[in-house]
Amino acid sequence: MQNVRERLELFVKKCKEIGLKITPQRLAVYEVLLKSPNHPTVEEIYEEVKKMYPYVSLATVYRTLETLERIGLVRRVCFWGNSARYDANTSEHHHLICERCGKIEDIELDDRISVPPELKGFKTESYSVNVYGLCPDCRSNLPS
Ligand SMILES: [Zn+2]
Ligand SMILES: [Zn+2]
Repeated sequence: MQNVRERLELFVKKCKEIGLKITPQRLAVYEVLLKSPNHPTVEEIYEEVKKMYPYVSLATVYRTLETLERIGLVRRVCFWGNSARYDANTSEHHHLICERCGKIEDIELDDRISVPPELKGFKTESYSVNVYGLCPDCRSNLPS
């Protein structure tokens, strides 16, 4: 992944292109996400940004994430039963998900799945594999 500074500069550039005002709060949302490898929820990002900008609103955080997603700088990771999680890693990668605590880690898989360019009338663009299991912490806390 490129360094945080370069990614922030790219965000500023894209904001200018689409005519979006750049505020310190918006930059902070992206910065928090870039620095967290654990796919945070909107609320977790909000809590972090609030430490720097106590008057930031949850709505601002939501809107900023939506914008970042729309311009392709973040990805939303969705899976059953949990709130959306955000990912600043937009390169093709897969996820290892703990079914107990909800921890998500990036993984690379060797097996390449061949996805045809068109499926059931869909023009396909990307794919992502979710591998479910128990993380080391949860495994060691299992009652024996
Ligand atoms: Zn776990
Ligand atoms: Zn990821």
